[in-house]
Amino acid sequence: MNKKKLKHFEQRLMEEREKILREMGRFGDSFQFNLKDSSGDLSSYSFHMADHATDSEIQERAFQQMSKEGRLLYHIDEALRRLYGNNESYGRCESCNEPIEESRLDLVPHARLCFKCKSQEEHG
Ligand SMILES: [Zn+2]
Repeated sequence: MNKKKLKHFEQRLMEEREKILREMGRFGDSFQFNLKDSSGDLSSYSFHMADHATDSEIQERAFQQMSKEGRLLYHIDEALRRLYGNNESYGRCESCNEPIEESRLDLVPHARLCFKCKSQEEHG
């Protein structure tokens, strides 16, 4: 992969990273809000799952969401490490060692497997 492409995917990874950090901040805030005032009026709050859920459900979902975001953040950091590393491992499939499709990397810049290996993993 040439420098220009690596730069492009570095940019994509950074964008994803910032997006996740913003998401995590948002969920963190609403979680604190729920802890502080569990009987408070949620209508002014933008937390869309608050509509019919109880406080414990909201907290549980916030936790699930956070761990999902946390895992994603981990994968993005790993991808950045591969990208900054000198062994050209970024964009290469961990399973078959072939280059990962660039159209796939555009959608999932932290992808570790090519499309073929990914679908094999998902189906068995
Ligand atoms: Zn592969």
